[in-house]
Amino acid sequence: MAEICHYLRLEGKSIGFVPTMGFLHDGHMSLVERAKKENDVVVVSVFVNPAQFGPHEDFSAYPRDFKHDKAMLQKTADYLFCPSQESMYFPHEHFRFEIKDLANSLCGVSRPDHFSGVVLVLSKFLHILQPHTLYMGQKDYQQYVIVKSLMQEFFFSGKVVLCPTIREKDGLAMSSRNILLTREERKQAAFLYESLLLAHEMLQNGGKNTTTILESMKKFLKKCTLASLDYIDIRSASTLEKMKKPIDEPVVVALAAYFSKTRLIDNILFPTVNI
Ligand code: AMP
Repeated sequence: MAEICHYLRLEGKSIGFVPTMGFLHDGHMSLVERAKKENDVVVVSVFVNPAQFGPHEDFSAYPRDFKHDKAMLQKTADYLFCPSQESMYFPHEHFRFEIKDLANSLCGVSRPDHFSGVVLVLSKFLHILQPHTLYMGQKDYQQYVIVKSLMQEFFFSGKVVLCPTIREKDGLAMSSRNILLTREERKQAAFLYESLLLAHEMLQNGGKNTTTILESMKKFLKKCTLASLDYIDIRSASTLEKMKKPIDEPVVVALAAYFSKTRLIDNILFPTVNI
């Protein structure tokens, strides 16, 4: 893959890269399509990265369907990169990233090593492929902020493009994990986005008090009787720092909730950025 990309670059071709963990859906495909529009060549990786799962998380239960992924990508992607675990990781690895402030909030609280595992595999991918542009979804907004900083601080070439979250008809953010929900959980999962819309409306109407907005969301989310809320927070969209009162800069309203063992995340940006 490194050699292929090397020659593509020599030929003057621009390379767009979409890293995924597979079990592809229209959310992933929107990134692939955007990459196709903006580049000569699109590389999509499918790799369920063990380093980003905690010891009690769903690495083995994470849905996989390689045939389906291959078929989905047939028309749009140029290269499907699906390395084995053994080719990405050495039997004994000596390095791990320590991420400071950016990983201490939101998803980083209940998944302490998650982002360190994400940047570990991503830095390997970036070295192998050296893409011109990396495409990431807003659904994983904290991941985007961390990866953007990683690329800046470690002088990786190439830029990162943030793509909007693609949703099901009822507003639930598309996710490979949605398939793990029971029928009743799936129904209730739509309330997560509704609570974000409520926050959006409050912000739109001039609401500037994070506590009031979060309280209203929590009250609304009582409807989600099958979920247990992991976190719900309003943070600076650029630094992920806690908001000063009153809100005076672009924010991300983000949440995570467990339906049984299935952890779903979602967020909105305010003001909605042109992405
Ligand atoms: P994953 O396979 O979950 O690691 O996701 C791979 C990439 O697809 C990440 O950049 C995600 O943010 C993005 N992605 C996942 N779900 C969606 C969605 N519903 N809409 C847009 N992008 C998404």
